[in-house]
Order: sequence, then C-alpha cells, then structure tokens
Amino acid sequence: MPVSVHDEAGIKALLSGFGEKPFRYAQIAQAVYKDLVPDIDSITTISKELREKLSSEIVFSTLSLRSEETSDNGQTTKFLFETHDGKLIEAVIMRHLSGRNTLCVSCQAGCPMGCSFCATGKLGLFRNLTAWEILEQFDFVQKRLVSEDRKIRNVVFMGMGEPFLNYKNLKMAISVLCDQKKYDVSNRRITVSTCGIVPGIEKFAEDFPQVSLAVSLHAPNDETRKSIMPVENTYPLADLMASLDRYVEKTNKRVFYEYIMISGVTDHPRFATELAELLRGRLAHVNFIPYNPGEGIMGNGMLPTSKLLIKKFQDTLEKAGIPSTVRHTMGDDIDAACGQLAMKERGESLATETGKSISKAFRKGE
Ligand code: SAH
Ligand code: SF4
Repeated sequence: MPVSVHDEAGIKALLSGFGEKPFRYAQIAQAVYKDLVPDIDSITTISKELREKLSSEIVFSTLSLRSEETSDNGQTTKFLFETHDGKLIEAVIMRHLSGRNTLCVSCQAGCPMGCSFCATGKLGLFRNLTAWEILEQFDFVQKRLVSEDRKIRNVVFMGMGEPFLNYKNLKMAISVLCDQKKYDVSNRRITVSTCGIVPGIEKFAEDFPQVSLAVSLHAPNDETRKSIMPVENTYPLADLMASLDRYVEKTNKRVFYEYIMISGVTDHPRFATELAELLRGRLAHVNFIPYNPGEGIMGNGMLPTSKLLIKKFQDTLEKAGIPSTVRHTMGDDIDAACGQLAMKERGESLATETGKSISKAFRKGE
C-alpha cells in the first residue's frame, strides 16, 4: 500500500529508509502544501534520484472525480468523488459574494445515524473515510480554486457522515488543515457538525477548543427529536444540553444550533417558544435550515416550511435574546444538501440498519 502524501510519519519513515536527513520532509511539505504541486516529480527542491525513489511509494490522491455540477449562479459546485474501493462521497464549495469560500467535506461514506430527513442517512454506513481521504477532498478543491484565483477560507464538516463517529481521522485531518506549515487554515474557520454524539463533544472540547462546533438540534423536545433522529434514543436532549454546557464552560465558544424547518414536523408554533426556553441564557446561535427535499428522500412526505413561518421563529428567538440566521440554500438546483448527489448516482436507496450499525459505529468511533 503506497504512503499518502499527507502521512507525515509514513513519509519520514520512507526518507529515513533511504538514508535521507529529516529536513527533507520540510522541503516536501513546502511543495505539497504551499506550492500545491501535483506530483512528486514536480518537487524540484529535492534531487531527481530521490524523486524517482519516492514517486512509486507516495500517492497524492486515491479519489477520482466522478462528476461535478455547478449551480446556475455559479456560486456552488458539488464534486462527486469515487474512493479506491468504489464508494461515492461528495464535497461542496460555496463561493460567497463577499469573497469568502467555504468548503463542505464528507467524513464517512454514507452515515449510520438514520435521520429521516437526510439522504445520507438513507444510504446507511459504508465505511469511515481515512484522514487522507478527507484531506484529498480539500486538496482537490483548493487546487481548483487557486486556478480561479481564489482560496478556501472556511471548512465545514457537513457533508456525508457523522464526524464524531470517525473521531481519530477527523482529528488527524483537522491537525493537517490547521498546521501552519501545511494548509494553515485558521482553526476558528473550521466547523464540525454533529447530530449530538455526547462522548465526541467531550473529546472535541478537550482537543480543539478553538474549532467551531455545530449541533444538529432540529427539535426542541425529546418526542419530536426522537421521531426524526434515532440518536435521541442513545443521547437524549437533557444529556446533550448538559454536555454542551460543559463545552461552553471549557471553550467559552458559542455553539451553533442547526434547526431544520420541516412543515408540520419541526415548525409547530409552540416549538418556537420551546426552542427559546431551551436556549435562553445559553451561548447559542441558531441556524434555521429550510428542509431540502431531494433525491433519495422524496418518498418521506416531508416539505419545507414557508419563509414566513421561519421568520416567526426568528422573531420569537430574538425576543429571548438568541441570535439566529436562515441558512441560504445555495445550490438548491444541484441538490447541494447532505448526500443527495450520491443518491442520484446510485439510483437506489439502501435501507439503514439503524440499530446494528449505530452501536457498531459508536464502538469504532470511540
Ligand atoms: N452528521 C452531521 C453532519 C452532516 S449533515 C450532522 O448531522 O450534523 C449537515 C447538516 O445538514 C445537518 O445539520 C443535517 O441535519 C442537515 N441536513 C441533512 N439532510 C437535510 C435536508 N434534506 N435538508 C436540509 N438539511 C439537511
Ligand atoms: Fe447522518 Fe447527519 Fe444525515 Fe443524520 S443528518 S443521517 S447524522 S449525515
């Protein structure tokens, strides 16, 4: 198995095997992360002889681009990649008018959590992505943006999968993204989104107190949350909120609460008050996400809430002193919500073995 270009320890071991001095790694890192070279042969700061030896040992990317789609306004591009073992994953770049560019990456092929509104959830879990596969998504899109005279500024783990069920690889990927000698993305500009895996939140507060945390809350009470998010059975709302309080105490960072607006499910007028009560006094920012009906989840009967009703929720929160925004559904025309392009490609829906795969994934992710 060749060594990934992002595997610092692996490359250092190769170098020492070839009798090279450790500082050679710094030259390679400079070329890979700062000059964004496409292959080993382009690293002209090392000898031709060493390049020849390394090029058969080091692999730059194991992902191949299967398709890409850009929204009509040109702002959003969704990339569908195929892994070396034939799994489909996706990454989305959002070019905001302000000039800031946000990359959304996947951390798993599929997801075991089975949320009823989510196309990725319908697929079930195929496998965790390696840290290198997460970084390859970044590398591919960064090279594309550089060719447009742009750069990735923000990274959000909001693509396919549940980051805290792939904690080890998430941690490694964030370390490489933030390393000043590597991609040098500010840790404050990285956001990890979880459906509410409590042990993951605890570790995250410990390991990455500067990185932003988003939580898919989606309902203000156990009953509704349980009806759309099976994770509620394992980590009920009270435990989740207690863990988030500890997170805020430790990091002093505001938590981003994502709240999906599904007509007749999460947008009951009473829920606006319940949500305000739940978050009152907490360091919180709410992102309302209009439900995106798409490929793979068409049959679930869900519809998005009207803009007017979302505004009412915002007003209720504002009165309670809780800031909120409505997430722009950039790229609606290309199905740029969680997992939807991969569904279209597969043209099939795989049943989620919720119970079994969740407990397996919990054990793996710990
Ligand atoms: N697994 C993580 C991160 C990936 S999902 C999590 O659940 O937080 C990223 C966000 O997209 C989550 O808030 C998720 O709930 C939301 N999402 C999933 N399906 C959606 C849909 N059909 N419409 C709108 N948002 C959706
Ligand atoms: Fe998984 Fe997140 Fe989709 Fe739920 S919303 S199924 S946790 S990707």
